[in-house]
Amino acid sequence: MDTQMLIGSKFERGTETEEAILNPRTGETILSLPEASPAQIEAAVAAAQKAFVTWSKTTPAQRSGYLLKIADRIEAEAEGFARLEALNCGKPINAVLNDEIPAIVDCYRFFAGAVRSMPGLVAGEYLPGHTSMIRRDPVGIVASIAPWNYPLMMMAWKLAPAIAGGNTVVFKPSEQTPLTALKLAKILAEVLPEGVVNVVLGRGESVGNALINHAAVSMISITGDVATGKKVLQAAAKSVKRTHLELGGKAPVIVFDDADIDAVVSGLRAFGYYNAGQDCTAACRIYAGKKVYDKLVADLSSAVSTIRFGQADDTENEIGPLISRRQRDRVASFVERASELKHIEITTGGKPGEGGGFYYQPTVVAGALQEDEIVRREVFGPVVSVTRFSDVDEAVNWANDSDYGLASSVWTKDISRGMSTAARLQYGCTWINTHFMLTNEMPHGGLKQSGYGKDMSVYALEDYTAVRHVMIAHG
Ligand code: NAD
Repeated sequence: MDTQMLIGSKFERGTETEEAILNPRTGETILSLPEASPAQIEAAVAAAQKAFVTWSKTTPAQRSGYLLKIADRIEAEAEGFARLEALNCGKPINAVLNDEIPAIVDCYRFFAGAVRSMPGLVAGEYLPGHTSMIRRDPVGIVASIAPWNYPLMMMAWKLAPAIAGGNTVVFKPSEQTPLTALKLAKILAEVLPEGVVNVVLGRGESVGNALINHAAVSMISITGDVATGKKVLQAAAKSVKRTHLELGGKAPVIVFDDADIDAVVSGLRAFGYYNAGQDCTAACRIYAGKKVYDKLVADLSSAVSTIRFGQADDTENEIGPLISRRQRDRVASFVERASELKHIEITTGGKPGEGGGFYYQPTVVAGALQEDEIVRREVFGPVVSVTRFSDVDEAVNWANDSDYGLASSVWTKDISRGMSTAARLQYGCTWINTHFMLTNEMPHGGLKQSGYGKDMSVYALEDYTAVRHVMIAHG
């Protein structure tokens, strides 16, 4: 197992506080890793600064070549990466191997292509006797900070557009899930020029905080909690750094009376509980039309009660445990508070799983009202609430009545109702008759307190590059 940070071309152990890295299936410690010292953080930023001088001058074709090599190396070691991610996050091995790794490999390949064909305004004489052109240049040194729910995928979403755009990076994985980042660091050191990507370990309040406040960092990219995003904005304000924020979500799902209920149930069973609901786009806040409400609650509860987890043969598992005891207890406390309300019925689940791991039973909370905490706050666990609505305006108003604005979906057989409802939703993404499906060509990112950075797609490349105007007087 790789345990060392990457600083320039050197592999080093941190020298500060040790963090226990846990196996969420058992609660046991896999190993402990020390975090970076202030001097090591300085060295990582200095290495990125030094590398920027030459990396920012490489051609798109050269950078594309490097990205393709990274993709090939991850693909060649897919099984090793999947095993490590499954160990550190408790994810079912098949979900990592068959869903995540191909999407991660494709992310590097997408940006390898996209950077060679960036769109933009045409050069021309917009003032007589002067030719104007638009450039897109790198922003500088990017501090990239990732969460624990999809460690290697968040790393891809952050690194690929940043280095494709000519930036250099100091990357910090979540202190809870650093193992695949350390494995990838080995590959990055072999493939990329020294210092283009540096990987440091540590907690948010120490190493993360030092990175976001560093004077030489030009851009902060973070996926995490809204509270963390606000701290990033405060730090960024001191020196006016560019920020790229991907924060939480509480995705509404509007199910009209004419929806195909079997498709809705199988969609919610998959997209409400994938990754044990630790997903900012999880289909967790259902609004059901009054005619379909009873059937939806009954069918969904029975489908959710069959979700397989905690099996000794991991290939049998559909979901894993939560990432930590703290997260499991947090999820349990949301459900406990909800179940104390008279109008709420827990129709399946509602308890921690058995054994030593951080499991929580897949849960349906029926009869929830718009003002209930379970409808308003991000649970980030395998818990879906169902609320009855009476007309489209009520459904849209409730769906939009949220601090979050990341993802949403609408289920109906009437495509014009689907389109007109989608147009009224204030979310970075709206799916019609599906949920959760992502593709590297399309942007992922939010509105409101879900943040505003776009991951994947050419929009991410725009976020990680600066638009510049160059004008030539003809003389
Ligand atoms: P978190 O905000 O606690 O941590 C995210 C990262 O930020 C970690 O690496 C952490 O060490 C770092 N961090 C924490 N405090 C910091 C500080 N003061 N300065 C600098 N860095 C700091 O979030 P988490 O618990 O790891 O992840 C779960 C959250 O992330 C959820 O709220 C979820 O919705 C959100 N999320 C959003 C998206 C998205 O695309 N919008 C994707 C995944 C997760």
